[in-house]
Amino acid sequence: MINVTIWNEGRHEKRDAPVAAIYPDRIDGAIAAGLVGDFAITRVTLDDPEQGLPQDLLDRTDVLLWWGHLAHDEVSDDLVSRIQQRIVAGMGLVVLHSGHHSKLFGRMMGTNANLSWRELPEGDLERVWVIDPAHPIAEGLPPYFEIPASEMYGEPFDIPQPDELIFLSWYSGGEVFRSGCTFKRGRGRIFFFSPGHETFPIYHDAHVHRVISNGIRWAHQPHRDGRILANWHRAAPLHPKP
Ligand code: ZN
Repeated sequence: MINVTIWNEGRHEKRDAPVAAIYPDRIDGAIAAGLVGDFAITRVTLDDPEQGLPQDLLDRTDVLLWWGHLAHDEVSDDLVSRIQQRIVAGMGLVVLHSGHHSKLFGRMMGTNANLSWRELPEGDLERVWVIDPAHPIAEGLPPYFEIPASEMYGEPFDIPQPDELIFLSWYSGGEVFRSGCTFKRGRGRIFFFSPGHETFPIYHDAHVHRVISNGIRWAHQPHRDGRILANWHRAAPLHPKP
């Protein structure tokens, strides 16, 4: 059982009727409904007490999902620091779509994470190519899948060189984007996946559900507690002193 916490900013669903129509149970609800795996899911939003992530919930979260867009600046620096410490201790993080500009992703990357983008009312065709089919995050996926209406996110994407590239997206305008990539920070694993604009029903797509489910499983590390590993080293030194 993996304890998954889905953190959704939750403001578009309150403010924008078209978004609420696509996601009547919010974006986090659509994601939660589609995940397939042995997951215990907790859904929280920015407007919940302690911005959705009191320390006790953070402490028992194995993998945190992050969707934000309008209110990145409202997330407290203290919360970002507490999440960062959980990640470097081994908690998994899955950052979705416009979460690329969140304080949290910026903190973990150390860059602005800027990118090129184009938002058309009718959307762009996005073809998501699986470029590392042997990777666990690509399990069960076809060679590529298409999102008929997506927001174009294009290169250059201002991130450090990812540890792994799983997906590369192509758009009808000819742009390309590193749409699925992984990073390690301390003991924690981070997966970024870009499709997920709020005015399109992308989080109702079965391929997207599969990617996020796989991403959670990959980011989860059962032996994540750094204190246990540190104690093991003390108990069994490689070169014991006489
Ligand atoms: Zn967007």
